[in-house]
Amino acid sequence: MVDWSVVTATTPTTNLTHAECAARAQTVSVQSYRVELDLARAADPDVDSYGSTTTIAFTSSGPETWVDLIADRVLGATLNGEPVDVSTYDGARLPVTGLAPDNELVVRAECAYSRTGEGLHRFTDPVDGATYLYTHFEPTDARRVFANFEQPDLKGAFTFVVTAPADWEIVSGQPEASRTTDGSGALATVTFAPTPPLSTYITAVAAGPYRRFGDTWSVRRADGSAQEIELGVLCRASMVEHFDHEALLEVTRQGLDFFDAAFGYPYPWGKYDQVFVPEYNIGAMENPGLVTFTEQYLPRGKATRPHLMGRASTILHEMAHMWFGDLVTMRWWDGLWLKESFADLMGWHVAAEATEFTDAWTRFASDRKTFAYRQDQLPTTHPVVARVDDLEAARQNFDGITYAKGASALKQLMAYVGQEAFFAGARRYFADHAFGNTEFEDLLAALEGASGRDLSGWAGAWLELAGISELEPFPERGADGVLTRLVIRHTAVELSSGERIDRPHRLVVGLYELVDDRLVRTARIEQDVVGEMTEVPEAAGHRADLVLLNDDDLTYAKVHLDPHSAAVVRDHLASIESPLTRGLLWSIAWNSLRDGNLPPREFLRALPQVLAEQDASIVATALGTAAQAVEVYAPAEQRDELRAHLVATARSGLAQAPAGSDLQKVWAQALIGATATCADGVPDLRGLLDGSRVPEGLDVDDDLRWSARRALAAQDAIALVDLDAALADDDTMTGRTFYLRAVASRPGAAARRQTWERATTDESVTNDQLRALVAGFAEPAGAAAAAEYAEAYFASLTGWWESRSMTMATILVNGLFPRADLAEGALRRPVEHPVVVAGKEWLAAHEEAPAALRRLVVDHVDLALRALVAQQSARLAAAEEGSQG
Ligand SMILES: [Zn+2]
Repeated sequence: MVDWSVVTATTPTTNLTHAECAARAQTVSVQSYRVELDLARAADPDVDSYGSTTTIAFTSSGPETWVDLIADRVLGATLNGEPVDVSTYDGARLPVTGLAPDNELVVRAECAYSRTGEGLHRFTDPVDGATYLYTHFEPTDARRVFANFEQPDLKGAFTFVVTAPADWEIVSGQPEASRTTDGSGALATVTFAPTPPLSTYITAVAAGPYRRFGDTWSVRRADGSAQEIELGVLCRASMVEHFDHEALLEVTRQGLDFFDAAFGYPYPWGKYDQVFVPEYNIGAMENPGLVTFTEQYLPRGKATRPHLMGRASTILHEMAHMWFGDLVTMRWWDGLWLKESFADLMGWHVAAEATEFTDAWTRFASDRKTFAYRQDQLPTTHPVVARVDDLEAARQNFDGITYAKGASALKQLMAYVGQEAFFAGARRYFADHAFGNTEFEDLLAALEGASGRDLSGWAGAWLELAGISELEPFPERGADGVLTRLVIRHTAVELSSGERIDRPHRLVVGLYELVDDRLVRTARIEQDVVGEMTEVPEAAGHRADLVLLNDDDLTYAKVHLDPHSAAVVRDHLASIESPLTRGLLWSIAWNSLRDGNLPPREFLRALPQVLAEQDASIVATALGTAAQAVEVYAPAEQRDELRAHLVATARSGLAQAPAGSDLQKVWAQALIGATATCADGVPDLRGLLDGSRVPEGLDVDDDLRWSARRALAAQDAIALVDLDAALADDDTMTGRTFYLRAVASRPGAAARRQTWERATTDESVTNDQLRALVAGFAEPAGAAAAAEYAEAYFASLTGWWESRSMTMATILVNGLFPRADLAEGALRRPVEHPVVVAGKEWLAAHEEAPAALRRLVVDHVDLALRALVAQQSARLAAAEEGSQG
């Protein structure tokens, strides 16, 4: 027995490389896993580990290999009945030698309960003291729970055997096959049915007193076949009153109807459970038969339609993975985009086609794509088809390119080959590769076969070259406003070489005319854009107060407006009938602002258009954008005026919103958000909390109350004893997290010092607690103080990376990056700003730092620089305006 508890999780061998995994797959082939987990004492907080015994049946053509395992201790191992020397275990890998052609390896270990959301997470509910467990493994944290070959192309049939309290829900990806109880009846040992061939990262177990709501889905197909699936949705017992299980199950059934028909391959995983879990790091995870979701999807209070739409899209995204990702899996992490782009596209497509959220594409255009545009303009952007040499790089690629740009490219592909051919290609792909692993070429071949088109040129320009296309219109108008000519300039540059990319775009040009103060589309011209300059002959002769490229959002590109159109949009955006077009125009304004072409003050002059907007989703997006415009892109001396303007606008929006509407809730959230940086809203928030200023119909639920207290805390306008009292009234996980965030949001040097210390040194804080701490610390009201921590930040980076898990280190690196504001009257250029200089110096001095850490720092330095440049041009614009006025 060897005690390896002193080995941290970041021994050098934790970072698996592509090359060594590819070599392992050449010699090893897995038949089955039997994973026995002893969770009998999980409810005892003094017990911090559990027993894990894994039996792996595999063949080998070579004499040796290794298995992956991050355990507190390896208790022992045998290979084909003979003891294995476990003294060579290094905390991440157990070497295995003396392999036969057919092998049975048994590894017994003690593994730690996780508090970071990685591996087997354990959570104790403050409401009732109940213990909840769930696993999260992507990309490579199954090895924190059991010994395995941690790479997606070594699939095996998994049999999970879990011992836990008998009165708990004990679930895995497959149905329960058998159950025994111990003599007292207190403990149950559940053996689950073996899975079909599966990759390690999508295996799953959950256990605890979860509440389960069941249903069935069934289908009788035209070919006479039929299928019935048990459905379940689960949540913590203390969340049941907020659990709208009927709505969740309805979207689930709608999705299964759609995918069953569209994919032509029966749902392959037996049953379909969806469990909502606490302290979850991401939105959701596609474990076949047991999908895990964040509890953020279960608001305490009335959910708005934008919220429900986002949730439906996520449910459908994960469901698409049952086929795309789970049934057919990427060979290595460079194929991550294969599953994520496709699932992301399906999430929005099926929401629009098969649920009540028929306007889902508006959200995709105004919200989801923004994520991609932002990422695609960072120095570290990469092609959708990315090269991923190792695991750390893989983890950093769960990003806007892999998800949103990839989905946008596939959306353009769907327009290019047609929907029918697109789904025919998908059907062929599933039929050809079920339970196997694939690469990009396999999908391309299926799509080419189904569409009869050569897609290599398209794929090269869209998927294999990084960077964003820019589209700019050059309209020539006669004296009467009628177009005499319209030319589109297309710019796209390959970032590494600086060479022009000829990326083909199929897009729509929308021409709009002002009629009775409303912008009305009078022409819709479909246009192929190839090469640098494209003439749009059909546009001539139309009156066009607004020329909008990529109307209807078929393509992915940064679009510009000509000055005349921009001025018209500023005053009439809300009068356009199509919400998709309005969403696009807000997205264009946002890109322009980030480029320093649209000063924040000018952006805020369009706020009356938000007041006139009736789509709650667009209002929420536009207001979020406005807040960032002020806090990040406006020069410091303009902020107070702009903040006051935001508070006043939010107050008006709240006053005029219909009682009980989503708009009312969105405006209330905006007023709360704006008050965090402007004291004008303090009386409003106090009135919300004490009931003296609550607009009719507004449900001031627990979550909204905490948001208000957090904003007041940022203004130093609520006493600590009042926060304590509020916590005593709402001592739930959500209440505790909000409380922590509120306390961390307080300005003042002592409070900030306390927050910094706790976030950076207290390793007992959980993932959610750490997120709350750093979010509070980054509150703009205390930003001036935060700059004092710049030195400590850069000095701490490598230490955090070495001593914390990837999730926790990433929260610290992202959340605590110092703000960069241009000092008033400073002559210094943005590149000479101390934060930018410190960041560049750190990068120069840490060439050998892990690539994933360097990537985060490179991006933050670039974002800081972008903000400083925008601040500077806004200051120049103000000076110009002042001199003209
Ligand atoms: Zn996904």
